[in-house]
Amino acid sequence: MPSEAEKLAENTEPERMTNLFVVTGPSGVGKGTIIAKILERVPHIAKSVSATTRPMREGERRDVDYFFCTSDEFFKMKLRGEFLEWAKFTEHYYGTPKSWVEKSLSEGQDVILEIEVEGAKQIRQKYPQAVLIFISPPSYDELKSRLQSRATESPERILSRLEKAKEELNAKNLFDYEVINDNLDEAIGNLEHIVYAERARTTR
Ligand code: 5GP
Repeated sequence: MPSEAEKLAENTEPERMTNLFVVTGPSGVGKGTIIAKILERVPHIAKSVSATTRPMREGERRDVDYFFCTSDEFFKMKLRGEFLEWAKFTEHYYGTPKSWVEKSLSEGQDVILEIEVEGAKQIRQKYPQAVLIFISPPSYDELKSRLQSRATESPERILSRLEKAKEELNAKNLFDYEVINDNLDEAIGNLEHIVYAERARTTR
């Protein structure tokens, strides 16, 4: 293995230390919108596509937004150890495919996981160096009105997501950073700063 000095002398790029970012926050808080902007603005970072048993929503793309699968397929993947983490959220299952994440990190690309709290806890155990970021709403009432106006779920499902949100908001002290999504541009800017600050760290 050539030393860093030898690599520089050969004019090859030194290997990047890659980062695994976990972005969590209650349903409806705007995680997806914020992450989409980060992917546009920041080079060398990609978002993992999860598997889910949840039905596809209007406007979602198969294998781009999620790998939509049956419960049977999901549990086969789980038994084969193909998930880095997985969780049940309200009545559906969600899991992060392990091989893609490991390959991306080993190829020098940072990875973002957009997952819920139980999954974030599993990642903390497996990858203590992962950077955990919690996106908060400015208030619970604001979250409620955002979920209601998004109207992608039935009223009963919105209620169960709001119940879940209460639990998630109580778990935010497990995270390294909190970004409050009051003003969208500021929230995007803050997450971008976190990504660059973590890339500039000399130690973990
Ligand atoms: P939605 O149904 O709104 O797309 O997602 C519901 C929740 O599941 C969100 O909090 C989302 O971040 C989370 N989620 C999506 N993919 C995964 C995953 O692979 N693992 C875990 N643990 N949560 C996920």
